[in-house]
Amino acid sequence: MPATREELRLAALRQLNLLDTPPSEAFDRITRMAAHLFQLPIAAVSLTDQDRQWFKSRFGVDHDHIPRHKAPCAQVAESGMALVVPDLLQDSFYRDSHLARNGIRFYAGTPLITREGYCLGAMCVLGTSPRAATAEEMNSLHDLAAMVMAQVELQHAAGRIDPISGLPNRNQFEEDLADLAREHPDNPPRVAMLVDLLGPEQAGNALRVLGTSYLDEMVSRVVAALREGMAPGERAYQASPTQYVVLGPAALHDEAEATAWLRLQLDRMSTRVEAHFLDSLVVGIAPFHIGQTSARDILRMAYCAAHAARAQGRRFGFYSAEDDEAHRRRFRLMQDFALALREQGQLRLVYQPRMDIATRSCLGAEALLRWRHPILGEISPGEFIPIIERTALALPLTTWVLDQAMRQRAAWQRAGLAPQISVNVSAANLRERDFATRVRACLDRHDLPVDAVELEITESAVMEDAAQALTLLRSLSDDGIRLAIDDFGTGYSSLSYLQRIPAQVVKVDRAFLRDIGSDSSRRALVEAIVTLSHRLGYAVVAEGVETPQVLDMLAELGCDEAQGYLFAPPLPAEEFEAWYRRHGGMSQPPPEASGRWRGRHGGEARPDAGLA
Ligand code: C2E
Ligand code: MG
Ligand code: MG
Repeated sequence: MPATREELRLAALRQLNLLDTPPSEAFDRITRMAAHLFQLPIAAVSLTDQDRQWFKSRFGVDHDHIPRHKAPCAQVAESGMALVVPDLLQDSFYRDSHLARNGIRFYAGTPLITREGYCLGAMCVLGTSPRAATAEEMNSLHDLAAMVMAQVELQHAAGRIDPISGLPNRNQFEEDLADLAREHPDNPPRVAMLVDLLGPEQAGNALRVLGTSYLDEMVSRVVAALREGMAPGERAYQASPTQYVVLGPAALHDEAEATAWLRLQLDRMSTRVEAHFLDSLVVGIAPFHIGQTSARDILRMAYCAAHAARAQGRRFGFYSAEDDEAHRRRFRLMQDFALALREQGQLRLVYQPRMDIATRSCLGAEALLRWRHPILGEISPGEFIPIIERTALALPLTTWVLDQAMRQRAAWQRAGLAPQISVNVSAANLRERDFATRVRACLDRHDLPVDAVELEITESAVMEDAAQALTLLRSLSDDGIRLAIDDFGTGYSSLSYLQRIPAQVVKVDRAFLRDIGSDSSRRALVEAIVTLSHRLGYAVVAEGVETPQVLDMLAELGCDEAQGYLFAPPLPAEEFEAWYRRHGGMSQPPPEASGRWRGRHGGEARPDAGLA
């Protein structure tokens, strides 16, 4: 059945999201002007809802609505024409109206008409004694109605309404909260619920597989359901293309209330939206007090809660200050690292010796990055490296480390020392087309032989884009740059890939050494890794060797090199230099050296090689 004119008018009114919104100074200013113009005690911007006149703005009245029945504004809305009633008591229709019964005698109203021609209600003035309205006064009242409509349109045009969903956006959310704060100086508790339709990964997948129309459809369905199902006092805003924030009238205090609220929402939605659109929906709940928390913080808190809920595989989550703190810290580290790269003195390298197991001499060192934050102090690489590696800063990080390590290596070279230095590179570097060229340029700049530096890569980094990574690794290897597979055994790569990585060294992750003395199956595993690696032509380095027993066992299994606290922790450059002078070089070639492994060390031969 086609919609009636009145139904369309009501739909247009609802679409504007004006009903039941807090008072707003932008409208109140116009209302005051109307009262002043007519020298009357009462004026209002009155919207004609289904069965009430609701005042978006009011001057001289306390209540925010009156019944639509026999309201003169309703006549204005229905006719789209201005109306003057000089004396309600003398008017046969309005004589027994709500207004007349409450002492109102005079009414004048001009229509509030949208660009599409729908009349939303009236800009009206009311008086308690009978009166006439001059043509000039009515012209001004028309102008004020036009100003109200300009303000309504401004809200749409000035980026307050999302063009796709028709929901008010974050700007409006901020403004409404500011209005609420003015209206409620007693800071009552409220709650914001962030409805997140899809995680970033799911959104990416949906876009790739199903295209944008799927997302558009999902958004329009859910928004329509959300809008229809809104409880009195609730209001929804668009927070991002697939996130909405619902401002609730009161606080949800605990899990039980939140579960009940969410169940209600999902029930309401599931009658209107196909289930598969709701599969990945999560809700983040942020309780707050009006006027005490900024709109941005409320959104951030709700987002944080939704994010945590998704990460934990739950439908909803409450905001947690601890999660937030952790999140803020991560964010801060990310931001501050850019400065650390530019400023002197925050970053430094330490060097952890790598030992030849057979001769107990030091062959070189792994360069490990350290960061002393000016305020937070020493930050562990286990914390900051994974954060930075997810950002574009991963590239300048490696550049900094390579340059610093090579500069140091060149200084040692000048001092007659030639330890091989291993540098960790990130997955992002393996996607850089000119990485090999830049490594070579860095070697040249520091006047170093190509085997002075070894690059450590992890299997998982290679697997992120195997084809591209293997091409790059081959070009590094063709140039004679040595490669090591770091943290071996922690990724999921297949043996066929392992065989295709043109590396010289496999570094077995320290997790494999745990309980190696008592656990025979673990021992068998390490033995198998060593044997297989040797067959494929790799030398094997054991990481994280902490006890002599483990070292003995590794020697028995034929492992070539070891790195770990048993020998030395990562050392500052000067300390490593002294250490290397004491332990550096090999007194004899390793017994089980494979062709590629033989002669790969660069340490100077020293007669006193071995542990101090
Ligand atoms: P990784 O490359 O596997 O480095 C070995 C880590 O094991 C180092 O941790 C080292 O201090 C630690 N370690 C060494 N011997 C022992 C031991 O006997 N027992 C135990 N429990 N641990 C030992 P660190 O320096 O905290 O670095 C952690 C990770 O951060 C590194 O693991 C590496 O993945 C990353 N990283 C460090 N520096 C850099 C860098 O310059 N660039 C990149 N991309 N990553 C880096
Ligand atoms: Mg490493
Ligand atoms: Mg490692």
